[in-house]
Amino acid sequence: MLWFREGLRQSLKTLTPQEELSSSSELSPGRPAPTALEDAELGAVCPTHALREHEGLMEIDYARCIQCRLCHQRTPGMNWEGGYHWARMKSPPLPSPFRHSLQVRVIDAGDCGACLNEIHQLASPVYSLHRFGIAFTPTPREADVLVVTGPVTVSMKGALEEAFKAMPEPKRVMAVGTCALSGGIFSSSFTVTGPVGQAIPVDIEIPGCPPPPLAILDGFRLIMGVRSKYPIKEG
Ligand code: SF4
Ligand code: SF4
Repeated sequence: MLWFREGLRQSLKTLTPQEELSSSSELSPGRPAPTALEDAELGAVCPTHALREHEGLMEIDYARCIQCRLCHQRTPGMNWEGGYHWARMKSPPLPSPFRHSLQVRVIDAGDCGACLNEIHQLASPVYSLHRFGIAFTPTPREADVLVVTGPVTVSMKGALEEAFKAMPEPKRVMAVGTCALSGGIFSSSFTVTGPVGQAIPVDIEIPGCPPPPLAILDGFRLIMGVRSKYPIKEG
């Protein structure tokens, strides 16, 4: 009730999918976009080695990009795009009964707190993921989707594998954030075993450091099959 009253006081309201689209530039930090190569040295500015040249274009490995903007601030620099359709599917959506109901278990495998915070925002009145029938569950035994943030630390690897085994079929794993996809800025730490995909099979990847809540919500929609056309990432 307190949340409801506070929402009224601040005039907060849940966004419709159309409003999300029209206002996504304010709700997304954006990310670099492939750019015609004008400066052969541009790739050297990237601290995470996410830039690579391919047939006259400078392309981005989004599993490594931390959106630091260094490549964008340089002249000539990388283009910058808004939007939030960043999810990359590696498996088909769940069967049709999951279009209106999804139980989600979140595991922090070693993140810095920011990716986890963006996931928590989804339960706020602005994003209100409950309108899609999505709910967080405390137990993997009830979960349809396992969301994992952060690189997998030595101390969390066993717990992550056990949680994955405990989930009923059919199930999907969503890796959220650059650290979960590649180890990110923590990849060389002695406490890190590697990205999530080295511990358990990943079905959908959400790049970003951290990804905005809309990008994560979009990933859930893809898993539910609400968005019928989804990009399949090979490999
Ligand atoms: S935004 Fe930063 S991390 Fe991403 S490609 Fe550019 S320089 Fe690299
Ligand atoms: S991807 Fe970025 S925001 Fe997410 S856990 Fe790693 S460092 Fe933190």
